[in-house]
Amino acid sequence: MDWSYEEKLKRAIEQTPDFERSEGRFDIPTVSVRQEGNKTVLENASTVADELNRDVERVITYLQNELGTGVELDGGRALFVGSFRSDRVQQHINDYAENDVLCSQCELPDTRIETHQGEEIIRCTACGAQTPT
Ligand SMILES: [Zn+2]
Repeated sequence: MDWSYEEKLKRAIEQTPDFERSEGRFDIPTVSVRQEGNKTVLENASTVADELNRDVERVITYLQNELGTGVELDGGRALFVGSFRSDRVQQHINDYAENDVLCSQCELPDTRIETHQGEEIIRCTACGAQTPT
């Protein structure tokens, strides 16, 4: 058995634990929140969304519904009307990750949103589970 270099390389890569995130517990991103006048600014909205592997609009819309207020995006920041404590915003992000990011079967964050026949589903690329959003 004489594997080509590419074959060996491929096997080596496959055997290397991929990235920490898939192996260990997923770290839910930490929100950076501050008050600005009558608004609550989520300073790192786009970073949080990136780490959750979701569109920032989707994450922000979720927060807006949970907080029951209006929101606007300003670059990578999200501005919510009203005063909200950072631990409250963090709690909603934790819930969001739980509901919309982590696979309900294997609990890995390797999921993506797909639409099948008009229905949104969360498809897990790790275990193949499909769950409604
Ligand atoms: Zn899964």
